[in-house]
Amino acid sequence: MLVVMKAQATPEQIQAVCDHIEQLGFRAHPLPGAQRTAIGITGNKDEVDRGNLEALSGVAEVIRVSKPYKLASRDVKEEDTIIRFPGTDASIGGGNLAVIAGPCSIESRQQAFEIAEQVAKAGAQFFRGGAYKPRTSPYVFQGLGLEALQIMAEIRERFGMRIVTEAIDHQSLELVGEWADVIQIGARNMQNFALLKMAGRLRKPVLLKRGLSATLDEFLMAAEYVMSEGNYQVILCERGVRTFTDHTRNTLDLSIIPAVQRVSHLPILVDPSHGTGKRDSVLPMARAGVAAGADGVIVEVHNHPEKALSDGPQSLYPEQFDRMMDELEQIAPVVGRRIARGIHVETATA
Ligand code: PEP
Ligand code: MN
Repeated sequence: MLVVMKAQATPEQIQAVCDHIEQLGFRAHPLPGAQRTAIGITGNKDEVDRGNLEALSGVAEVIRVSKPYKLASRDVKEEDTIIRFPGTDASIGGGNLAVIAGPCSIESRQQAFEIAEQVAKAGAQFFRGGAYKPRTSPYVFQGLGLEALQIMAEIRERFGMRIVTEAIDHQSLELVGEWADVIQIGARNMQNFALLKMAGRLRKPVLLKRGLSATLDEFLMAAEYVMSEGNYQVILCERGVRTFTDHTRNTLDLSIIPAVQRVSHLPILVDPSHGTGKRDSVLPMARAGVAAGADGVIVEVHNHPEKALSDGPQSLYPEQFDRMMDELEQIAPVVGRRIARGIHVETATA
């Protein structure tokens, strides 16, 4: 259910409606929009008695939301969600085309700093790097853990780029929530509902990767798990799905971009690195993703891909990343976006 407030409703009236909903034993999610605030109601098994709600002052109407996902749906919030990063000009969603770049894994301070310097110079606003790696084999590099988070915090300090890194379980989520700017939930964990709920209790943006065989509804329901706990800052990411294809690691399903945008207000990024698994396919598919309307791209970049401890074959050389930025900068305006080359960070004044 959704309570649509009148355009002139006061904050006190909005609060009174939220209190009323909570008193009924449900959860109220106030969602401010450009014209008016809507309040999503979750936790109700049956239909909420709308008569009482409609009688509260400031209420315009009470609507039933028919989609299984509520808070992620455009029925509840019409305008696109834009996720902002306080103290910087970076954002994900809206007119800014977000670029997240960095190695699959943080392997050492030197490796991470060399790559960070190169992607920052090319204009990336976000730096990615795995600290906790969900690897297919238990015998290969599993990530540097906390040490990697500390290295990335230093990188944020030095280059200004905001940090994106994956949490794989409750323990790593606590640390990632503390150290990173964006919490990545990987494809293999897209339906780890306990982890999603825990991420929903944090107040940091969550980058949610599509599961290896997830449908559109399953993907949005995973986002709903995070949002149902009060964290509305969810960024979706198409990273390729399993098909019979064997010329690429996965099949990058770009058609999900317009499909998501039709039914959801959440931003969606494209990951052509995991989507193809092949360095030479990354740039063409990044171009295609932006042309298809993605809100940004996340790509793996490595200074010595042949020596990388994970995902070397799909990692771009820094020069290829430069070229990607130049090409995306040209494509972006065609689809009504622009790439900011570099991040501006407000310096604290004493
Ligand atoms: C990654 O980003 O390195 C990663 C493991 O992604 P995914 O969950 O999409 O496989
Ligand atoms: Mn990877």
